Amino acid sequence: MRLRNITGSKEMIAENEYVIHEPKEQKGKWKEIFGNDAPIRLEIGMGKGRFLMTLAKENPGINYLGIEKYSSVLLRALQKMEAEPLPNIRFIRMDAEELCDVFAEEEVDRIYLNFSDPWPKDRHAKRRLPSRQFLERYDKVLKKDGILEFKTDNRDLCDFAVEEIKETKWKIDRITYDLHHTPEMMEGNVMTEYEERFSSQGSPICKYVVSR
Ligand code: SAM
Repeated sequence: MRLRNITGSKEMIAENEYVIHEPKEQKGKWKEIFGNDAPIRLEIGMGKGRFLMTLAKENPGINYLGIEKYSSVLLRALQKMEAEPLPNIRFIRMDAEELCDVFAEEEVDRIYLNFSDPWPKDRHAKRRLPSRQFLERYDKVLKKDGILEFKTDNRDLCDFAVEEIKETKWKIDRITYDLHHTPEMMEGNVMTEYEERFSSQGSPICKYVVSR
């Protein structure tokens, strides 16, 4: 998702109290941001943030961090937060390639990837968020018993993600190629903006849950 450049979005973000401006300085100290010992869960490529904000509202005992690459997109999430502030959520504008500079080993309890950009050209495969290169980064920052959840409407990306798991130490705990017709995996499902759009058009949603 890349919204039209919004004039002043960088400045608006720079002044926002929900954005962590120097995330590398927080490495190993994320609990201090929230002022408690609750687990920290990340959504990488959070877009406008609906998924994470719904989870934060439903689970006040868990802390959430949303990572988004583009200021223009992050700004939309911040506008929503202003309408309904939540104490257990913060945002970071960064490229997920820098994950290991921002989080210490095992600092994160769970990672969500929702409707990640497909990067269809083969030569861009390592930019895909469920690629083996990213799985290696997640392996470093995620607790040993932590899980990674991935949802997409893109069957090619889903097949790629499954093949990548086979090349790593990760294992698939649960998988469906039609989430909205799989009641045992649909329980507690929180819809993202993209999920709402694609499922209303009749596209089946793939989901996996993986661990090591
Ligand atoms: N997760 C949201 C949803 O399901 O509605 C948004 C999905 S959108 C297709 C993917 C988002 O991931 C975009 O906002 C994009 O800017 C962000 N993104 C892609 N690659 C990223 C990266 N390497 N680091 C951080 N964000 C990234």
